[in-house]
Amino acid sequence: MNILLYNTLSKSKESFTPIENGKVGIYTCGPTVYNFAHVGNLRTYVFEDMLKRVFMYNGFKVRHVMNVTDVGHLTSDADDGEDKIAVGARREGRSVWDIARFYEKAFFEDADKLNIIGPDIKCRATEHIKDMINLIERIEKNGFTYISGGNLYFDIEKFKDYGKLSGLSVSDLKAGARVEVDTNKRNPRDFVLWFTRSKHGNQDMQWESPWGKGFPGWHIECSAMSIKYLGDRIDVHCGGIDHINVHHTNEIAQSEAATGKKWVNFWLHGEFLIMDKEKMSKSAGEFTTLKTLEDRGYEPLDFRYLCLGAHYRTQLAFSYGALESAGKGLKNLTRRIAELKNLPVSATYEQRKNIYREKFISFINDDLNIPKALALLWDLLRDEDMSSADRLELACEFDSVLGLGLKNSAVKEIAVPEDVTVLIKRRTEARAAKNWDEADRLRDKIREKGFKIEDTPAGQKVVEL
Ligand code: AMP
Ligand code: ZN
Repeated sequence: MNILLYNTLSKSKESFTPIENGKVGIYTCGPTVYNFAHVGNLRTYVFEDMLKRVFMYNGFKVRHVMNVTDVGHLTSDADDGEDKIAVGARREGRSVWDIARFYEKAFFEDADKLNIIGPDIKCRATEHIKDMINLIERIEKNGFTYISGGNLYFDIEKFKDYGKLSGLSVSDLKAGARVEVDTNKRNPRDFVLWFTRSKHGNQDMQWESPWGKGFPGWHIECSAMSIKYLGDRIDVHCGGIDHINVHHTNEIAQSEAATGKKWVNFWLHGEFLIMDKEKMSKSAGEFTTLKTLEDRGYEPLDFRYLCLGAHYRTQLAFSYGALESAGKGLKNLTRRIAELKNLPVSATYEQRKNIYREKFISFINDDLNIPKALALLWDLLRDEDMSSADRLELACEFDSVLGLGLKNSAVKEIAVPEDVTVLIKRRTEARAAKNWDEADRLRDKIREKGFKIEDTPAGQKVVEL
């Protein structure tokens, strides 16, 4: 089956071919564990989960590696500021190790609630220092580094293709760089491979290295761990679009400087979730987490459903109104599935099922057109020419990609308030008396209160709007 994916490297949709037949290696940049993930971060992880599920639906055996950044990511993505974990530790009066483990656990709990399939390999930066040192030694041996002010830097002048992911030339990148406070750098875009005390004082997380006692730069962990677990060449690497210009650009430079080979075949990047026209970010202070949504009465999967409605390469404007609609959409969907389970089984039509299947695959394999796949699911559920059993079976099959937990859908008993019960009773009486105007008026009043009466073969049914 042909899968088209938009590759940031070529800026075009390309047909996916794996390095090894039938297998896909995916590396996704994981969380920096100094605070809760915000809904913007989680959108990116939902997108990556969809990508993984699309590969699985297409029959690929997926090996997914995700790192946990528990050291080295400074408060700016360049090499400026202090380690984010150290900042978190000070904020909460706890040790760096406590902070890192606490927020890592919180992250994976959020991911679970969103039906995000966990990575096959979850690897912490602090547990791979030796691998990072080994890789840095290879880069150094190949002549891409220099030492200045006690730190070891990557010299981007030595790496010809430095701008290939961002599409910017080295001189554009230089011109676009912020005023750099690190005067040790020969070039503002050079980046640190290994920090020593000389720059950041006596922080808690430090290791011995050939360049002195210190800690790794942020980017090297992803190169080292992906090479360790997926080999010198990998099929897919993803993250949010903010990683294109610095983090991923630097990851490519390091990995290819070490191995001398092209490293990643497909780079996929998810667009931002924005709120009030601004990119959601942790540094902006106030940010919305999954818990914020739960505290407001939403289910985590309402948020997943919201994410599925927007293509991953378009911005998702988050609002509680949009989340409310998504929640209703998901509730209707699960109700529809639960109803199908209760209908009698009739003949199945393989041919008709296959038409739906083909359409579904054509959408998901077209650079993850999940919004269209979701609309198709709704068409299927409304298709009265399909037997209930077929609709149910296909819906659950499609959900192996959508991840909305539809298999377990059950009609929840809804709590109908007393005043609505009275209105329903009066409407039934009005209908019995053939007083249609009054029955319609009461139906509208019931709607105003957020409920709807459906007349089914089994009698009247009250449904929440
Ligand atoms: P971090 O934990 O900061 O390293 O970020 C984790 C992931 O979330 C990365 O892939 C980022 O690119 C992504 N990300 C950060 N902010 C947003 C946002 N507002 N919308 C979508 N993804 C984001
Ligand atoms: Zn990374």
